[in-house]
This record gives sequence, structure tokens and C-alpha cells, in this order.
Amino acid sequence: MNRRLLIIDPATRQWRLETLRVETLDQDPREDYFVLSGETLCQYLLRRDPGALVIARGPLPFLSGNKASVGYVSPLTGLPHYSFVGGRAAAQLLNLGIDAICFRANLQVSKSANLQIIESSSQRVSESANQRISELASPCVVVRGRAPGIAVEFRDASELPGGQRSAFYWLVEQELGGDRYAGSVFTVGEGARLGYRSANLAVEAIYHAGRGGAGAVFARFASALVLRGEPMEPAEFFAGVSPLPLEARTGRQRSAGMGEFARNPNAAIAPLVDKYCARLSGRTGGTVAKMLTTGAASDGRNTLPAHNARQMGSQVAGLGGPRLLKALRQGQTGCHWCQVDCRHYHWVEVDYAPGGRDMFLDDFEPTYAVFAMLGLAPAAATLQARLDLRAEVDRRLILPIEQMGCDVLNVGLGLAALFEGVENGYVPTGDVPDFLASLPPCPSGASPPAGGIGASHPPGGTEEGDEASHPLGRIEQKPETSPPAGGTEGGHEGRRRLEVAVQAVEMLRTTQASTYPALRAIGDGPQALAKMYPAMKDLVFTGGRGTLGNAGHANALWTFLMPFSRFFGHYVGQLYKIDEELPPPGSDEAAYRACFERVVGRMLQKEFFWVLCNALSMCAFTFVIFSQDGEGERLSEDGGYPSGTLLVRILRHYGIHTTRADVEWFAQAFWAQSIDLKRQFGWRPPSATDFPRRVYEALALALDRPVEELQALMEMLIEEWKRQAGEVMRRFGYEVTW
Ligand code: SF4
Repeated sequence: MNRRLLIIDPATRQWRLETLRVETLDQDPREDYFVLSGETLCQYLLRRDPGALVIARGPLPFLSGNKASVGYVSPLTGLPHYSFVGGRAAAQLLNLGIDAICFRANLQVSKSANLQIIESSSQRVSESANQRISELASPCVVVRGRAPGIAVEFRDASELPGGQRSAFYWLVEQELGGDRYAGSVFTVGEGARLGYRSANLAVEAIYHAGRGGAGAVFARFASALVLRGEPMEPAEFFAGVSPLPLEARTGRQRSAGMGEFARNPNAAIAPLVDKYCARLSGRTGGTVAKMLTTGAASDGRNTLPAHNARQMGSQVAGLGGPRLLKALRQGQTGCHWCQVDCRHYHWVEVDYAPGGRDMFLDDFEPTYAVFAMLGLAPAAATLQARLDLRAEVDRRLILPIEQMGCDVLNVGLGLAALFEGVENGYVPTGDVPDFLASLPPCPSGASPPAGGIGASHPPGGTEEGDEASHPLGRIEQKPETSPPAGGTEGGHEGRRRLEVAVQAVEMLRTTQASTYPALRAIGDGPQALAKMYPAMKDLVFTGGRGTLGNAGHANALWTFLMPFSRFFGHYVGQLYKIDEELPPPGSDEAAYRACFERVVGRMLQKEFFWVLCNALSMCAFTFVIFSQDGEGERLSEDGGYPSGTLLVRILRHYGIHTTRADVEWFAQAFWAQSIDLKRQFGWRPPSATDFPRRVYEALALALDRPVEELQALMEMLIEEWKRQAGEVMRRFGYEVTW
């Protein structure tokens, strides 16, 4: 099996094609790369060149759920990081006749930056290195044709607009003749040029390779990337695939040969995709619906962190409610080849796109990070007030963050922490601009109320018969914060915080931000604030040193094992889905140990399953179809088929002949080698005391347990992870002393 690479060195304006022969790879015998695609191909190339940025596709084109994998060493964590991005990137790599593009770390500045990434322990890339990176005039790289007759052009980027979305539309006009569907366009924004570590990389403007700082790394090589291959049809692709063995065909396929699958690969999985992805594609579905279920739960057990995780539940939980979504949404779209179309959008008026409008998504992450964590609130508890707030925040805050091209989770959580740091006097007023120095205190107070769930709920009520029993959900707050006349609790403070956030982001988009160290730190994510101001260490809502902002869950202790996960920074949602309750208060140690043994066991099972998703560069939303009962925990058992799993059967259509046992072996081996690679980059499992205290305070609200007890339980949970993870590592030949 061969893998075809395009190696690009923008610094010297050189490029070349390379073939990797999977069977003869130069590798440690413990390493297993399965079909060498997606994350596995990224990892192989990162081991070869840790300063590289790799964009790889998976081996299953034309199937729903295909994404491109972006591999790089994160400037936020200093660890190998893999982002999975939709749009048309994977399809265009196929059209170009290649499996991956690898930007080589050949720039002098890049070498220097990458050395720092590898050598230092936490904040890997220094300010000066990033400054030098931002000063480089990186070219815009355009790749056309079909390998081996491929063409790579290095364009002067001096006229490229600074905003990430503006740059996308400009390139669509310049390089794709105005047809956004004719290629795939990668852009960065002002944040990458300013050297912000949280800068992301957008594909087709609305899909992001983001959380690990992909844009900051990409900007070392290029200002933008345009892929425009020669369209490949399934008939052409499958003509080159070795025939499906007779025993692997269904009855109809035996008579129809390869033709039926090749004509429409999605038909083979459509019923399962419909079954498990309907919650995403429905008019009121999608990830944002979680705002309502976790932020205004009917039983009051809210787990949505808000106000820098000082409370659980939010006045803006209704932004995920069905009535608002029906009123807001104007269409849906999705990744090339995917039948789900899970990306619901509404239009926002802009001055940079044809027709004066641009597409905005209403995903959970920006809604949680900006609306809930910043403590924004509608002017009244009505649907119209929420729609008005959504429109205003989209236009004044989300759009500038999008143009800046920084991960919205890191920016939202960073600003929320900064607000609290300023309120509490942890940040010297001279380190922030005047408009930030005079923030009003958080309406719910600086510390969580004692007693957790149900301790001080406001009285119930209704909002136009809407989705929650109370217009604000049952939120944690102090009783004195009753609603002012004509508005909601925190409405006035929420407006003030919105105004401050708008000004902060406006300044962050310019070099002026560097005048104010605390504001500038936001560009490097919330953890940068903790590093700069040690007193803030316990109030940032992250996983601790060398990690990223929390993705928005506080439903269980194990939710915060994210830094231990291979998926940290990518698809961490699998951990909060482990359905287990802590033993009741007063339980003995044996009960907790038994619980944690089950939790960690299931956590590892989930990771082994999701390794396969990443290796095949598939979307986590669709990949559940290959799991038993859609649980995302182990491969499905297909009755009556010898290899016993749908995934193995689908792989055979692509000429990948394997067995369930082989696939499961690979999953565990690749998991172990990935953890070992993290260790080579300096990672060690954190202890419970390495987590910010805010993590335990948030859990205390959600679980109704004292902070100290939760911290002790976390230590026990971590010990169990080390025990079970260590066993897996040793099984594959890695000696570990955690
Ligand atoms: S489910 Fe959504 S995000 Fe995933 S591939 Fe399909 S359209 Fe893209």
C-alpha cells in the first residue's frame, strides 16, 4: 500500500512529491499505523519532523463523515495535536491525487520556534518567536491539478485581507472564480499574524481546525492555502480498488459485483446514519441543543458552566431551545459527501461577502464560551429578547472573533477568567485598558453557594410556555440578585460585560493589545493568564498547566480527565458520556474504587473505539454507526457476517482487507504509542492538585459534594487511570513509571 504525499517548503518556494510504502516504513517495531491515513499518517510524519504541519485525508472517500486531519505540535500544550476539519478539504486532497500535504519545518524561524516547542515544558513558543513568525510575509499557496501532474504556486499575499472570513471570500473570487464549491480554502486571521497561540485554521470559513492553535503553526508556512484538484468520480476511484472477495459481498453484490457500492457508497450506511444522526440534522437539533438540557434542566441539575464556571446553568440556556432555533435558523449545510448536513446556519450582515451577508453557525461551543461563560443576558425573558441578543452578539462579538481567527472557546474562557481576575484585583489595573479595569462584579458572587444543586434556586416561572420550567432555567445564584424591573437578573451587568468584551476583542485584533499584558495573554488562551498571574491559577476553567480551556461540561468527576485523553483538544465529549454515578456520600473507599475501575475501563474502551475514527479521518458524529447500539464504545456486532462488524465490511469495499481482531489490536497499539509520544514531548499525568480549584468548585455545584472531597476522589480516579493505562502500555512494550 502506498501513500502519496505533497511536501511543501514555502520558505524556499520548493515542493516535491513523495511516496511512502506502508509495508517498508522506517519505524519502531512497536508502532502500528494500520492503513496510514488521517491521524496515523499525521503522527508518522510528525515523528519524522516535529515542526511540520500535516493535512491528511482518510481512506474512505465518498462516504458520509469524511474529514481532513490536521496534525501539528500545539503551541498551547507543546504536545502533538490533531484537529479534524470538515468542508471540502478531504475531497480536494482526493481530487489532487494525494493523501496528505506536509508543510516542512524548514524556515529558520520555524526551526527556532519548534526547538522551543520540543525543549521547554509548558508554554512552548516564546513571544519573540511568535513575533518573528508574524513578521514573515508568508505566501498564499495554491495547489492545482492531479498528481503527478500537480502544480504548486506561491502567491504574494500582500493584498490578502487580514480577517479570516474576509480572506476566504477574497480567495474564492481570486482563485475559484467566485465558486466556493470549486475548491477548498484554508485561511487564518489577524490572530495568527499577531502571533497568538490560540489562532485557528478555518476551512471554507465555517469549519475550524482550531483548539490546539493550528492557525499559529500554519502561519509559519503560509498565509492561506487553496486546493483545486480535478474532480474524481467514484467509478474512477473504485476502478483502482482491488475487488471485494466473494465471501465479503452481500447476496445482491455477488450478482452486481463492485458496481453497486461504488455507485453510491453512502447507501450502505444510510439507514444507520439516519438513525444515529437525526438529532443533529433536525431543524431544532445540533450540538447547541445541549445549552438547554444542561443549562436549564427541568430537574434543576444543571451542569453548564457559566460566569467563568462560578455557576451552573445560564440565563441564555434558551439559545439552545427549539422555539428559538426554529425562529433563528435559515438553512443547513455540511461537509462534502456527508448526508447529515448538521451545520445549521443563519445569516449575519457583513461588508466583505457577496450579497452583504455571511453564514453563521449556532454550535454549542461558541454559545457556551461567549454567551454563558461571559455572563451575557437578554434584556427580558422573552423569545424576541433572546433573538435580539443573539443577533447583537453575533454581529458585535462573534464576527470579530471569527475575523481574528482565534478559537472561540479559548477566547471566551480567557475573557471570562480575565474579567474575574480584574474584579478580584489579581490583575494590576495597569495591565488592562481602562474599559476593562472598571468591570462590575459578577452578579452571582465570586464563590459558589454552599450546598450545590438546589441550594438557592429562584422561584419557577414560564417564558411564553417555552422550553424550560423557568425562563432562566434553575440556575445557581444568590437570592439577592432578583430581576430588575423590565429585565432579567444580571441584564444590566450582562450588557456592561458585553460592551467590555466587544472592546477587548476589537483591541485584540490590533497590535495595540500588546500594550496591555493581561489582554494580550488572551490571544494565548486562558492558561496563559494563569502563568502570567499565579493568583489566577485556581480560577481559570482549564485542565491545568499545559492544557486548553474546558469544553463546557461539569457533569461528572471524570469529565475532567480530558487532559489524560488522547482526544484532549479534539473530541472530548466521549468522556462526559460515561453513564455512571458517584457512590452516595458516606460510601466506603471500596465502593469508590469499584466505581472508578468501571469508569476508567469504559473510558479506555471508548478511546480505543475512537482511535479508529481518527485513523480513518472520519467525523465523530457519523462514526458512532460503527459502534454497538450507537454507544461509541465498541465495534458493532453484525449478525451473520463472518468478520462480525460493519466497519470491516466497509473497509473491504475500499480494498482494505482486515479482521475485527486486527482492527482492535491496532486501536490499542496506536493508543499506547500515542501516549508514549506525548511522554516523549514531556507530558506526565497531572495530579489532582494540578487542576485549578475552579474545576472542583464547578463540580461541587453540579454534584453537591464539598470541594475537598472531590479533590481527594479525583486523586483516587487518577491513580486508577494510571493503573489501567499502565497495563495497556506494558502490553505493547512501553515501560511506564507515571
Ligand atoms: S456529521 Fe456534520 S460535521 Fe460530521 S461530516 Fe457530516 S456534516 Fe460534517
